[in-house]
Formats: sequence, C-alpha cells, structure tokens
Amino acid sequence: MDQGNAPPIILLFLSRGWIARKSGIAADPSGKDKKMKIDKIDHSRKISRIRAIIQVGFTLFCLQAGYRFYHFYLWTQDRSEIFSSRPPSVEAFLPISALLALKRLVLTGLWDRVHPAGLTILLAALVIAWLLRKGFCGWICPVGAVSNLLEKLGKSISIRLPKPIEYPLLGLKYLLLAFFVYIIFLKMDLPSIDAFIHSPYNMVADAKMLEFFLQPSSLTLGVIGFLFLISIAVRNFWCRYLCPYGALLGLLAIFSPLQVRRKASRCIDCRKCDKICPAFLKISNASTLRHPECIGCMECIEVCPQKDCLTLETGSWRKLPIHAVPLAVVGLFALFYLAAVLTGNWDTSIPPEMLKRLYQSGSTFAHP
Ligand code: SF4
Ligand code: SF4
Repeated sequence: MDQGNAPPIILLFLSRGWIARKSGIAADPSGKDKKMKIDKIDHSRKISRIRAIIQVGFTLFCLQAGYRFYHFYLWTQDRSEIFSSRPPSVEAFLPISALLALKRLVLTGLWDRVHPAGLTILLAALVIAWLLRKGFCGWICPVGAVSNLLEKLGKSISIRLPKPIEYPLLGLKYLLLAFFVYIIFLKMDLPSIDAFIHSPYNMVADAKMLEFFLQPSSLTLGVIGFLFLISIAVRNFWCRYLCPYGALLGLLAIFSPLQVRRKASRCIDCRKCDKICPAFLKISNASTLRHPECIGCMECIEVCPQKDCLTLETGSWRKLPIHAVPLAVVGLFALFYLAAVLTGNWDTSIPPEMLKRLYQSGSTFAHP
C-alpha cells in the first residue's frame, strides 16, 4: 500500500458517516459501496405533542385533587365550615402503603379498604409497565411531566453527567427499591402488614404528607430547590437516578412484549434517535430495545427519518402504530379506575367524621 495515500483514505473512510448524517446520502450498512435513498418523513412531532397534552391533563388533574384535599383537610381541622369531599386519588402519593396492600392482596385476596385507590393506581402502573414498558412514567406520572418541563427549560444548558458519576447514580434508585422490597416482602409478615395498614399512622398518612408540604422545613425546601435546579441542567434527574417507583416499573418492563426494533439495513446512522431519547439510550446501534429505562415515549420512532427503520413491535414481531401506546396507556389506566369505582374499591371505607378525629390527633401517632 502506498503510505502516502493512507491519511486521505482514512479520512475519507471516517467521514463517510459524517457525510451521511449531514448530506442525507447514506453508506450502505452492508458495506457494499452503494448509496441508499433517504426517505423524507414529515416531522410534525405529533406524538410529542400528544404526550405533552396527556401529561398536562394528568398534572392538572393532580393539582385539582391536591386543592380539593387541602379544603377537606381545612374542614377536618375546623378551619373551614364548608365540607369538601376527600379525593381518593391523593393516595397515588402513598406508594409504600400501596406496596404493603399489594402483598396483603396476594397473600389473602383482600383489597385494602384504607387506601384502596392507592392500591388500584399501583396495580394499574404495574400492568401498564408489563404490557407497555414504563408507559406510566412516560405518559401519566405528574413528576415525569414536571421533569419534562424542566428539561425543556434547560435545553440550552443541558449537560450529560460524566460516566464515573452517572453509573453509580444510575444504581441509586434500584438500591432504594431493594431496601423497600427487603422490608416489605422479606421482613414483614402478614400480621405486621395488617397491623400497619389498619394503624392510625397509615390512616392519616395522606394528611401527614400534606402537612409536610404545607410547613416545609428548610431542609425540605433545600432538597426540593436542588432537585428543581439540577433537573434543569441534567435531563430527567429525579426519574433517571432517584425514583424507586420507576425502578420497579422498569424491572417489570423488561418482560414487556412491546419493544422498539431497529432495522440496521434501513439505518443511515444519523443518531437523531439517540439525541431525542429522554432515557439516553443508544438506539442507533441496537436491534431490539428492551431496556428498563425506556419510558415508551415513542419519540425515537417519530424522529427517525427512515421509513420502517425504527418500528414498534410486539413479541410476535407484529408492527403497531405508535399512537397505540398513548391510547393503550390511558385506556388501561381508565379501565382500572372504572373497575375500582364500579366494584366499590376506589373510596376509603373510613367515614369523613372519623378521618376528622384521626387527622386532629395525627401528630400523636407513631410508626407502628
Ligand atoms: S435508527 Fe436512529 S440513527 Fe438510524 S436512521 Fe433512525 S434515527 Fe437515524
Ligand atoms: S427508546 Fe425511544 S421510546 Fe424508549 S425512552 Fe428512548 S425515545 Fe422513548
């Protein structure tokens, strides 16, 4: 080989991918020297808009539930004479109580009557994760929605943590999950779970949570402020590194039949999919994506410029339209809600007057 020609040849070889990305003329991944026609795809970003609308809808629903619960709380404290009913959906924010109720349901077949809506929401999230990847995180969870909003605010300053920091941080939420699983599923037997579920401490847990946010300590304010700021600079900080609920759903999602498939022969290596993925997944060199971090947002498929390069498929390799995901996620969630309401498993069996008495002596209840 003529050594004098080597650098230009190497440069030409290295630049093929770059030229493909910039000019839209792709090298054939099979290695044969021919050009691949690049499809023109309409990038109206419909799926991301649908996702934003659904996320805003659920977030507004949670805010109104919080507002109604605040008025119910004021009534229980004799600070308001107007009775406002307690919205059961606030129990979505009591995931530990819901996990205990789930273990009791598995062991006894009995539905929790103290926080039944919390158990319904946990079960809905688990089934959605199993069938539709972490669809609950990607489409429903209001914390995920706020995280998305902050990510958009910080788009111009967004940074990726260096790998030596990122890898240990990635394990943090699984460690938190392991701790809860150890305590609830290994350490606590049925009598102690029963004692916890029917304890006054558990009955007033929603009010305690509200008081925690109504009178935050300086440490709480500091932690919340830190999480807000860091979520602007580091994409999805809470969901990606800290949320044990998301970790549980992600582990279940590994068994989901739904997956993103990449046809290498259609790929032009533009890496638009990698750039848009909120979970930082390397889609451009995967063939099938079964990653526990995938939230099923479908943005990679939408952004891909090549027709039939990235597709949504089920285990039997049957292609699905990407809009089936939001429809199925919201539909399943609504189905769980309706089933719980119709079977009387949505509202707590504790009468408001009893809750009022319990809330008023809430500060005296210790952890059982
Ligand atoms: S799979 Fe990713 S890298 Fe390949 S063409 Fe589609 S967006 Fe580009
Ligand atoms: S892999 Fe695709 S569907 Fe999954 S989180 Fe990333 S962009 Fe969303």
